[in-house]
Amino acid sequence: MFEKKPNLALGFILIYFLVLTVGMRNSNGAGIKPNLKTTHEKSNFKKYTGHIELENYLKKLSTFNHQMKLVTYGKTYQGRNLPLVIFSKEGIRDPKIARKTGKPIILIGANIHGDERTLRESVLVLMRELVQKDSHMNRLLDDLIIIITPSMNPDGFEASQKGSRKNALGVDMNRDYMKLEQVSLFQFVKNILHTWKPHLWVDGHNGGRFPYHLSYLCSTNAGVSKALSGFCNTKLLPFITKKLKQKEYKSFYYQRGNKSFWSIGGHKTRIGRNYGGLINIISVLFESPNWQNKELGFKSGLVGLKAVLEFSSINKDQILRVTRSTKKRVVKLGKNGEGNVVVKMKYGFSDKRVSYLIGGKKVGSKREIIKVENAKIKNKIIPLKTRPRPFGYLLKPGFEKSIDLLKRHSIKISKLKRDHYLNVDSYIIKDIEYKKVYDHKKAVSVTVEGVSQDKVMFPKGSYYIKTGQELGALVTQLLEPETSDNILKWNTMDFALPSKINGYEKFVLPIYKLTGQELD
Ligand SMILES: [Zn+2]
Repeated sequence: MFEKKPNLALGFILIYFLVLTVGMRNSNGAGIKPNLKTTHEKSNFKKYTGHIELENYLKKLSTFNHQMKLVTYGKTYQGRNLPLVIFSKEGIRDPKIARKTGKPIILIGANIHGDERTLRESVLVLMRELVQKDSHMNRLLDDLIIIITPSMNPDGFEASQKGSRKNALGVDMNRDYMKLEQVSLFQFVKNILHTWKPHLWVDGHNGGRFPYHLSYLCSTNAGVSKALSGFCNTKLLPFITKKLKQKEYKSFYYQRGNKSFWSIGGHKTRIGRNYGGLINIISVLFESPNWQNKELGFKSGLVGLKAVLEFSSINKDQILRVTRSTKKRVVKLGKNGEGNVVVKMKYGFSDKRVSYLIGGKKVGSKREIIKVENAKIKNKIIPLKTRPRPFGYLLKPGFEKSIDLLKRHSIKISKLKRDHYLNVDSYIIKDIEYKKVYDHKKAVSVTVEGVSQDKVMFPKGSYYIKTGQELGALVTQLLEPETSDNILKWNTMDFALPSKINGYEKFVLPIYKLTGQELD
């Protein structure tokens, strides 16, 4: 019995070396072109690659090259894996090690809307090019760490033949970034955005209009640093446009135009690309317009995604600089309790004029293309209401539900170690409403009448959320009660709120702003 064990061990060692040698041949084999196709390609672009097929494809692909690591960042409500693919020259799996390389981390995500599948297919083929040593895409790994979440809503993808925009619980996850209620989305925000801390993020969807092949949009919320959105608008988008044009693909801003003006997509912070901007990521939305056939959308999308990676490689130093300086500026503004926070905004016409294309009449099977020149564009951020940025916000013990939401966003919170009497501001409200907002029946909205300035006692154990932290822009959006998405709106304070306000009483909201001085 004792004699047999070494033989068994020897056997295992032999098998181990055999596996290793085969593995080495793959991982060192320069120029090996993986002979692997997606279901989409095999079906001549008629069928999409199913979730299990996608998982198998990624598993096989990851055996070709140790520079590709396949892990999962969580599980969906229905128990499907949420895949994360990491590409690096160093074969990294650990986000801390990735950041230590000093290379920008580029995130590509797709299919958060389960029925928007085109860029999910583009990204699968992009990954095949990334694993192929000495290919143009693979060489970009000299400069970049690339992380990919190709299938962010597999429950929605698999829900029916066409797929569902929403998740298994009927919620649009691209409206859940601030509420963070949905399990798949929460894991994406926590395990990807706040753990890998990418510098640049592309979020892939299907939308936009004829005759464009790809539509795009950078962050458009007033709370996002102008340096970040400016870099995205003036450097990244023109580069993508140029690369697409070289292949005769047309691209323009998401979303639509008519004969007199063009208008862009929404500015709410609950949308991915705006949330990304608030947490200091250069964020860009990709929308592949559905008028294209599957093959055309897949191909133009692939050109667009490659353009982002090429741009990131060429401009890696600028990407690092602009994201680093944005974080520093956010911290400084909070530490000094400086400036204002835009709590309400709208779009107005910018001073710039644009030329663009729209669809006209259908002639036979073809639609006419109308060129609109020198037209207005409604993309200027107009602040409607601002509030002073405090050093920080205070909540008393008992508001753990609110604190839990802030923690889910990786916001730093401290607890008072003793009782404090503090001069603070709070809002007096004159109206409160419980109404439906996207998929939620009872979101809370308040109308502020004025600011109450009082000396308030904060007992030991009260919570202090300072704005002088890297997530300071997110802190102000979540703690100011008049923004589009905040702790009040998303029902974390319901127990402490009146069901309605009658005209005679004044109600002071239990969110306190420290404006006089920083807490030591
Ligand atoms: Zn979408």
